Amino acid sequence: MTATTTQTTTIDATDPEPAKPGAGATAAGLDTRIFEERESQVRSYSRSWPTVFSRAKGPRVFAEDGTAYLDFFAGAGALNYGHNNAEIIKPLIEYLTGDGIMHSLDMYTTAKRDFLSSFTKLVLEPRGMDYKVMFPGPTGTNAVEAALKLARKITGRQHVLSFTNAFHGMTLGSLSVTGNSMKRMGAGIPLTNTSKIPYDDYFSGSVDDFLWLERVLADSGSGVDKPAAIIVETVQGEGGLNAARAEWLRALSELCREHDILLIVDDVQAGCGRTGTFFSFEEAGIVPDIVCLSKSLSGSGQPLAVTLLRPELDEWSPGEHNGTFRGNNPAFVTGRAALDLYWGDDAFAASVRERSAELHAGLGRIAEAHGGTLRGRGLLCGIAFPDDATAGAVSRAAFERGLLVETSGPESEVLKTMPPLTITPAELAEGIDIIEQSAQHVLGN
Ligand SMILES: *Cc1c(COP(=O)(O)O)cnc(C)c1O
Repeated sequence: MTATTTQTTTIDATDPEPAKPGAGATAAGLDTRIFEERESQVRSYSRSWPTVFSRAKGPRVFAEDGTAYLDFFAGAGALNYGHNNAEIIKPLIEYLTGDGIMHSLDMYTTAKRDFLSSFTKLVLEPRGMDYKVMFPGPTGTNAVEAALKLARKITGRQHVLSFTNAFHGMTLGSLSVTGNSMKRMGAGIPLTNTSKIPYDDYFSGSVDDFLWLERVLADSGSGVDKPAAIIVETVQGEGGLNAARAEWLRALSELCREHDILLIVDDVQAGCGRTGTFFSFEEAGIVPDIVCLSKSLSGSGQPLAVTLLRPELDEWSPGEHNGTFRGNNPAFVTGRAALDLYWGDDAFAASVRERSAELHAGLGRIAEAHGGTLRGRGLLCGIAFPDDATAGAVSRAAFERGLLVETSGPESEVLKTMPPLTITPAELAEGIDIIEQSAQHVLGN
């Protein structure tokens, strides 16, 4: 891009207009030139929300001109406990001022010990789960890559099955099990050793979901290589908020067990309480062989990921998988604080389920008024509108009214709400109101 075609939204500092949402491009103090001139055009969220954010607290984010936005995006699920949650940040500040270890690769540290202890005591033990915890590198895609590698190593098979509209991350292994064609094209090389199979309700109930898979796995002449693993999201966060039914997940788990295929649940987005239980698959009562967690695991927006494995699958050789940033100690500190704060009993999860019911009722009402359908589960839900372009337009109208809410799905056709789990009923209602007004503004009536 040349300087002449660069869009610049800098402003005359003498502009007398007071700051109002969406007026960022004309409000004083918002200088976006350096981003447009220097930052790669690969950036995308900044295109939906063309303002400059400077502070955030709880469910609100503030632009540098002072405009407040209610956040129904929550860092794509990395901020389940809100922005700068005081109870989570306090121990971090103490840790930093006390010269706590910042970086440690996979060495033993007190921060990692405390995190693992709380994770064991508050997450694994109460659920009767006995997983080994692997730190694969700090992002969601790192957790997925480690899971795929391990499944292939253990089974000696190369093939992995994943689902239509799945999203598992941007590195090559994760991309190979992701559905989105634009993102797959970005790989620049063939994405091999994987196949896509239909997610729950892909045929709108007209075909038995596992018919094909059951048949080809049982048929030695099918020509379909037996997979090492099947990787699944219980709710497809990026792929359009399709939510698998509990009985479908149980049937998938059963099929994997029968055929000696490892079941990997990618709970990077739907996990950490998003659907009303710590793991999104608890409701289905399944126990996956491998589980990937990241996004809200640190509780503070810092990068942290784990790959959980059944103990008998822990066949790694020391150092066979590694990474410089596996020991993100500040993230251990806040991750532990979040677990201690919210997961000691069921009270927090129960409040998430109450907020979910309220959000579903509100969005359901809006969907009904405009011929749309409610999608998703828990506080990972949204509206699929009849026209693909509506969700984007509603998202833009919401931004102008002071709400951050994104879209999801292959054609960005689903309005996707993801408020912090700590949101109050009043704040939730405020956001629902803005969505309602925005939908009315876009669609009339
Ligand atoms: C976000 C996400 C990932 C990738 O995580 P990154 O931290 O962006 O690498 C993988 N799987 C799911 C389900 C996700 O939502």
